[in-house]
Amino acid sequence: MRFLIGRYHEVGLKGGNRWRFVEQVKHNLRALFADYRLGAMRSLGSRLMVELPDELPDKVAVERAACIFGLQNFSLGYPAALDIEAMKREAVERARQWPAARSFRISTRRDYKQFPMNSMEIDREVGAAVAEALKLRVDLHNPELDISIEVLPDTAYVSSGKLAGAGGLPVGVTGRAMALLSGGIDSPVAAYRMMKRGLRVTFVHFHAHPLVSPASREKAQELAAHLTRYQAHSSLMLVPFGVLQREIVARTKRPLRVVLYRRFMMRIASALARQAGAAVLVTGESLGQVASQTLENMMVIERAATLPILRPLIGMDKNEIIAEARRIGTFETSILPDEDCCTLFVPAHPETRANLAEVERTETQFDIEKMVAEAVRATEVVKATFPPAPAAKAA
Ligand code: ATP
Ligand code: MG
Repeated sequence: MRFLIGRYHEVGLKGGNRWRFVEQVKHNLRALFADYRLGAMRSLGSRLMVELPDELPDKVAVERAACIFGLQNFSLGYPAALDIEAMKREAVERARQWPAARSFRISTRRDYKQFPMNSMEIDREVGAAVAEALKLRVDLHNPELDISIEVLPDTAYVSSGKLAGAGGLPVGVTGRAMALLSGGIDSPVAAYRMMKRGLRVTFVHFHAHPLVSPASREKAQELAAHLTRYQAHSSLMLVPFGVLQREIVARTKRPLRVVLYRRFMMRIASALARQAGAAVLVTGESLGQVASQTLENMMVIERAATLPILRPLIGMDKNEIIAEARRIGTFETSILPDEDCCTLFVPAHPETRANLAEVERTETQFDIEKMVAEAVRATEVVKATFPPAPAAKAA
């Protein structure tokens, strides 16, 4: 039998929300391991102990546990009787699983103070047994293998090393958001960051298919599917935007168009968000990065939204955003070539200091409500789940 030992970030546990936080982590774990039957889950102090089924490979357990926001770190722990010989046997067994390691350290934490040896004594005795059995060197400062022992009231748990958790707050605990996912580098990172702050995210992508190739839709689907590993199930709303853009192009001056497109995106996203029960919008904007992201333009664009806009990347440099995109695994998809709806009909010299009065005057010629309602009606919803649903068998 093995346990996933999850450790919470202490900050998340302050105050009366602790119970909700822990329940949400449990719920999210069950969802992310939906294809395996996880056993009992119980809280032990600031730890969560989850009984893992035998058929769940360690590799899968580790990969998925690393996607659970709210866990600061975790390990796979093996129970041993409260007896120093049993702990030694289990520690040798754990170390044996890491044949490449040449040095190790034992780190014991004794929560159960009645156990007759203190943590340093346990470290020493178990360490000597492992060194002897496997001819490994003890290295207290920079070991290649870190074996931890947690001595709790009825059992000790032995695990090889703490692994980094995803940190943050469990998805769902702070509410629901609608993230505008463009297919570029920034917006998937922005969505990830807000998921990490406990928001469950619904995605929306605006595309100009069939006026252009379906490449941007496919990228958005791939990105949404990738990000779904952090929340187990997602919806992606695909909004056909080409007809609306053509209407804007037919009736307005070039420089204003980008701002006008963006304002329609905000209106449509706000309407879809309300339908989906989302309280805020999320974008990948970063101050000054491109023409549409000057202070003036962002303010004019924001005025069209009927929900607050969160911009988690606003103060980040492109290099920092790229590094994060690589780390979370969205970068490679984001740089695939596409024809975003905004590469279609984008003027060479867009306005960088839009004037609200001028923009609003230009918009009086549009039946805004009707255009938004039509876009909402034409929106397609695609679902994603992680683990992915088994492919339907061919007939
Ligand atoms: P990204 O790298 O996310 O594409 P960007 O640097 O290209 O961002 P903009 O084109 O100004 O910047 O877009 C700013 C934000 O507006 C994006 O981060 C995204 O949240 C939203 N957005 C832009 N285009 C689309 C689209 N076609 N569908 C959905 N959201 C979009
Ligand atoms: Mg873009």
